[in-house]
Amino acid sequence: MKPLGPLMLLRPQGGHKRLLRAADGFYHGLHVPVTVVDHVANFVLETDKPFIADPTTYFFVLRPERLCDADKKAVRPWLLRLAKGFGAPFEVALGRRALVPADFPEKGNATDDAVRRVLTHQKAKFLGQMNLPLEPYYAKYALYGDSAPASSSPPPAGPAFLVPPYFPFRNVEDPWYDLDLRLAERALSVREKGERIAPVIHLDAVALEDEAVVDRIVADYRARAFDACLLWVNDLPEDAAPAEHLRGLVRLVRGLSSGGRQVFKLYGGYFSMLLFAQGLTGFTCGLGQGAWKNAYAFGPGGGAPKPKFYVPALHRSMELANAERLLREHGSLRCPCKACRDVYGSNIDRFAAMGEDGHCESHFLYARQAEAKALLDRGVDSCLTALTTTAGKFGDNALVKVAALRTWREVLAPT
Ligand SMILES: [Zn+2]
Repeated sequence: MKPLGPLMLLRPQGGHKRLLRAADGFYHGLHVPVTVVDHVANFVLETDKPFIADPTTYFFVLRPERLCDADKKAVRPWLLRLAKGFGAPFEVALGRRALVPADFPEKGNATDDAVRRVLTHQKAKFLGQMNLPLEPYYAKYALYGDSAPASSSPPPAGPAFLVPPYFPFRNVEDPWYDLDLRLAERALSVREKGERIAPVIHLDAVALEDEAVVDRIVADYRARAFDACLLWVNDLPEDAAPAEHLRGLVRLVRGLSSGGRQVFKLYGGYFSMLLFAQGLTGFTCGLGQGAWKNAYAFGPGGGAPKPKFYVPALHRSMELANAERLLREHGSLRCPCKACRDVYGSNIDRFAAMGEDGHCESHFLYARQAEAKALLDRGVDSCLTALTTTAGKFGDNALVKVAALRTWREVLAPT
């Protein structure tokens, strides 16, 4: 059974726990890095929702100095723990050099062992957290439709899908492309009974420009019995992406999902919601930010990101000060949700308080729920028409920036 609308898997931070405990009906699941701190891992289990524990193996292709703490010139402790969990070749390379495809030889057992450990680490991380009974985990398979494991034994507690090690690739000629596919294939053979495998296809946006490349990726991944595919187009903000990249993404989603395979996009926004009509099962996102991600931008940590305000009619987030200017200028862009009513209501002078106490995040959840309801009640064509109406109403203006709405409409218009 196909879900009625796109599934949204949130990427929570520690500070979101209180908010999300009260927002059970606002999201379907969670996407966390396997390195997540214990109290967030506990929270993930407590929600009793499906989750993905991303192995984040892409860190290991960065130059060693990028993985060091800015001050200490030493590898960050959480990466050391991750590498220890994964073993060779991750542990051997960390701090010395970037991984290369030759670290995963085709002959011998070393590669199978590495893949097995990456999968096992995703399960082990969550097994040790809480003494929850296994029964709640049946529920998540109901959510994911009728393709639950055929095994009669209960599914193991843990992630909804296990993710094979993956690394970003530029195009299908890139040795990392072949390696990703091979590692994902190995995951199918080393998994335990009932486990579901979902490889990450972590591609450069440039690969989306060439239909032949997209079709090759579709053919390669469709030819293998993966339970789902997770797409990560590196560094592609949907609200700034050129039409040709979004067109390639649509082609990729349609191709991968044809025949009913589940396809999720990692780091998505409203465009990803609309991709539901093209076959996308769901997407992951932060609470009002993190709608895209660049694996290569990893550097010295700068603490928690500042809250941003999601402007519902424009379907994108902006800095609070810019959002305030915009809402002062265009009263029609103000939001009637409970969070907004409680904080600023009709008095825009109080808007700055949205930056405190999770109000922006709470507002985002309401706004996203309204978007989902509109998609469900009125259908995608009506949502596309609304994009044109909004774009027409505001015209081009440095602050409003409606060009993305036109691009989305153009790319997704029925042909
Ligand atoms: Zn609101």
